[in-house]
Amino acid sequence: MNGNENTHTPKSENNNLITCPDCKKEISRNAEACPHCGARLKTSFLYKFIKWGLIIGAIFFVFQIILAIVAFNTI
Ligand SMILES: [Zn+2]
Repeated sequence: MNGNENTHTPKSENNNLITCPDCKKEISRNAEACPHCGARLKTSFLYKFIKWGLIIGAIFFVFQIILAIVAFNTI
């Protein structure tokens, strides 16, 4: 890294990157600890948990809609 990038924060376009809460540097979402400052990312596990919860919830939601449509058409 060269120069001071603290004043201008570019919008992250990479979904695999998150901002470290300690040093504000972009790090991998899958990282359990920040490679720059070593801060442990406690949100990592929670993030995966919420992400999978949303995915499973969305699958069930779509599944229920499909079931409702099928049930409606068969009556
Ligand atoms: Zn950091």
